[in-house]
Amino acid sequence: MGENVNRKILLASRPVGMPTESNFKMIEEKVPEIKEGEVLIRTLFLSVDPYMRGRMSAAKSYAKPYEVGEPFLGGMVGKIVETRNSRFQVGQFVEGRLEWAEYNVSDGSTIRKINPELAPVSTALHVLGMPGLTAYMGLTYIGEPKEGETVVVSGASGAVGMIVGQIAKLKGCRVVGIAGQDEKCTYLTEELGFDAAINYKTAENLRKAIKEVCPDGIDVYFDNVGGAVSDAVMTLINFQSRTIICGQISQYNLEMPEMGPRVAGQLLTTRSLMKGFIVSDYAQHNKEAFTQLSQWVKEGKIQSRENIVFGFENTVEAFLGLFRGDNIGKQLVKIAEE
Ligand code: NAP
Repeated sequence: MGENVNRKILLASRPVGMPTESNFKMIEEKVPEIKEGEVLIRTLFLSVDPYMRGRMSAAKSYAKPYEVGEPFLGGMVGKIVETRNSRFQVGQFVEGRLEWAEYNVSDGSTIRKINPELAPVSTALHVLGMPGLTAYMGLTYIGEPKEGETVVVSGASGAVGMIVGQIAKLKGCRVVGIAGQDEKCTYLTEELGFDAAINYKTAENLRKAIKEVCPDGIDVYFDNVGGAVSDAVMTLINFQSRTIICGQISQYNLEMPEMGPRVAGQLLTTRSLMKGFIVSDYAQHNKEAFTQLSQWVKEGKIQSRENIVFGFENTVEAFLGLFRGDNIGKQLVKIAEE
């Protein structure tokens, strides 16, 4: 690739069902020149995230749809390579929501500085970034887990799920993860200290498998996936349980909404709570959450794992992999060396 070339990925067309490579287009432009007040950022890591599937559709949601022909916007970590903004120096690491591109220009309002001494800079895209905050906010402010309670998390080995389970362990809970590969389940129990993990793809009777490892029922359910996994979990909730609706990835590529059991009766008889949230709803707690997560990371009480795909040209493939369950831990694309 020439020195002066900036590759970008655009939305070529809106997907119907599971997205394919044809919904994306890679273009080459010249690396932009910066104006007074701006910085030029070299991308080091790009984040691919399930919520981006929603933005590929025209349907109204909490995040504005991407426009056809426009670049994808997403989380990235980069390094300042040119600056005309006195707040930023060349060599500084930053995180922000910018274009899926090898270089980005910012006026500084869309980026935050990150401290490479605290943890590897890529953690700003998971445990010390949006997914970590999501895990913390949902579990703390909706789940309110208490010592001795049973917490179940779906999508357990992903970016959000792996942090949810570890926080719940730190709160003294029994923690059960649900994930789609034996290797993911082993990671949860052997490396992250989950009490049990269930492979929802191979369990013969998912409800029975969950019941066996939740002998006292379920007090908190952190739901990242929805669908059949949640149908099984919801039959086992306890009196005054709390269900946190964080994500419904099993539904994102469906062309027709799926019909499921009606859970209202279960919520009524158990006097339970089910609440959806978006991480930004709790932005007033960002500082507290970030301080706490950073401390746990520094003390080695919370670990995180990265699933890294190398090369800008493999970004789309990494994104599609989220819906096949390719990733153990946070899915990142490494674009350039630090
Ligand atoms: P992730 O878990 O790292 O990656 C996605 C994982 O979802 C895959 O590895 C796969 O694991 C699982 N999955 C894919 N298709 C599935 C299906 N049909 N049924 C069940 N599981 C499936 O992603 P993440 O970034 O941590 O996000 C997790 C969830 O949280 C997503 O639903 C996302 O939209 C949501 N989220 C919400 C917020 C918020 O503010 N509310 C913020 C961030 C993320 P398996 O192998 O286990 O199937």
